[in-house]
Amino acid sequence: MQILKFAAAGAMAAAFLCGFPAAAAPRNLIIFVADGLRSHSVTPEVAPALAAVRSEGVDFANSHSLYPTVTTPNSSAIATGHLLGDTGDFGNTIFVGEPLPPPFGASIAGIEDDDAQAVMNQRFGGDYLGETTLLAAARAKGYATAALGKHGPTAIQDVTSRDGLGTIELDDDTGGRDGGHGIPLRAEIAAAIKAAGLEPLPPDRGLNGGGGAYNMAGTLVANVDQQNWFAGVATKVLLPRFKAEGKPFVLVFWSRDPDGTQHGQGDSLNALEPGINGPTSKAAIRNASNDLQALRDALKALGLDDNTDVIVTADHGFSTMSRQSPASPAAKFRYRDVQPGFLPQGFLDIDMSIGLKLPLRDATGDIVHPEQGFYPKHGSLLGADPKHPEVAIAPNGGSDLLYLPGPGAKALAPKVVAFLTRQDYVGAIFVNDALGAIPGSLPMSRIGLIGSARTPQPSIMVSFKSWSTGCADPEMCGVEIADSGQQQGQGIHGSFGRQDTHNFMAAIGPDFKTRFVDPAPVSNADWANTLAHIIGVQLSDNGHLRGRVMGEALTEGAAVPEVRPATLRSEPAANGFVTVLNIQEAGGETYFDAAGMPGRTLGLKP
Ligand SMILES: [Zn+2]
Repeated sequence: MQILKFAAAGAMAAAFLCGFPAAAAPRNLIIFVADGLRSHSVTPEVAPALAAVRSEGVDFANSHSLYPTVTTPNSSAIATGHLLGDTGDFGNTIFVGEPLPPPFGASIAGIEDDDAQAVMNQRFGGDYLGETTLLAAARAKGYATAALGKHGPTAIQDVTSRDGLGTIELDDDTGGRDGGHGIPLRAEIAAAIKAAGLEPLPPDRGLNGGGGAYNMAGTLVANVDQQNWFAGVATKVLLPRFKAEGKPFVLVFWSRDPDGTQHGQGDSLNALEPGINGPTSKAAIRNASNDLQALRDALKALGLDDNTDVIVTADHGFSTMSRQSPASPAAKFRYRDVQPGFLPQGFLDIDMSIGLKLPLRDATGDIVHPEQGFYPKHGSLLGADPKHPEVAIAPNGGSDLLYLPGPGAKALAPKVVAFLTRQDYVGAIFVNDALGAIPGSLPMSRIGLIGSARTPQPSIMVSFKSWSTGCADPEMCGVEIADSGQQQGQGIHGSFGRQDTHNFMAAIGPDFKTRFVDPAPVSNADWANTLAHIIGVQLSDNGHLRGRVMGEALTEGAAVPEVRPATLRSEPAANGFVTVLNIQEAGGETYFDAAGMPGRTLGLKP
């Protein structure tokens, strides 16, 4: 049903696109991603360049990050124009079956990492996403392409080009700075960087990288120095080079701020206020804005601005982290580096091990003893045999992905879901359609997560509880329980609350309307389709979960599509737990606003 709908949407989009006149000169594109930028956090005071694109170009007010609202899944959607059921990038951390080879060595893999992505490609058919990226399609058409910025999502933008000879790729790990091999840097680019008077390699994050501890506040500075280097390379090396070559270009700039700073900020240790609305987080938003301004200034100085579309998106929104659950057994143990009484990382794993009477093991298979002060930090395997776990748990901040790889999955799944419905920190539950309908949960196919993925599909996805501290705009003071290393009061994301799904999206340039507020829902899966249309390249359709062309935002524009909001509701579990899902349908696509148990999910309309 879902597939037919998407196919029909594609046909309709193709029909109206045929009438568009061909552009005279090939268009240039800049894709600027401000990691973790909430839609409502952009104001002219805090972020003048971001606010200017939104007010002077297209303001995508009804924007959406894809769930789970973490970085690499949304990077995969921005890169390919497909939903996550097709790209198989279900989280920053996913279960991959057999352990990855050394140095990774675990079956729960962190894929926000260049070297891990290379291994993932080897494991999954040469391209773990299984779909053409916009950058690869543009390269094939003769475009110059570059991606620079945050380690992990940047290299996903041209995921199969990893020898440095295709897309010019620069991130924290260039030159092995982040402890890995990274993507090689062409000698001629290295020479041009030197000639421009820049340091040969990106600086590390310096003081910005200090996230603090439960008894020590985190950073008080934004990621300025590192990002200045990336902005310097873009404006002094790459854009002048593209102009000199006379080639059209697509350049992706992935700003780690405000994400990295919001995660690690020291404005709010163990307190929910100001949380991620303190001065350090605001400085990080301004830092991203300044980088965008530098890129636009360079376009103008080089005379490229009239022929370059600049689109700005964020992979996801953001919340302030809570580590408090009155009922969790995991919070009752004492750990050496956790505030007494607070949840440790892996709290769901510990509670499930107790609740389902399954041995608790870390991601490499070693037994973990919470009663001795230990907790799992990088996911868990539950069961007697570490080679054949009954449950594998991959932590993703505001959500955990659960995999039931054993032969007893169908019998185990209802027990796991019933356990989850009894935990006070659980917001929403989604279950893989292959496991059948389970009361309290909705099927994963309803949120675009069942498609042509090459990687193992999660069995169950859990979004944790979220709420607001009571400010005037709830999205700006969202709080959530999360399975990650941040302290209470620092920033996190990953849940199905609207504060996490409502990312910033805006665009400006010759193909986009001016001073237009788009009321239609849009998502990170729509960018690549819209941009592929603008530059006239084809994306692949190995899976059928494609986003749409945002035609209503373009100068040759289509009408704003009709928008139909709807609410889906699961069967209630034995204890009354229900998962409710707010959606909007428009242009043949479905957009996902929020999901969870009413009263446990910010922005949910019951
Ligand atoms: Zn993040």
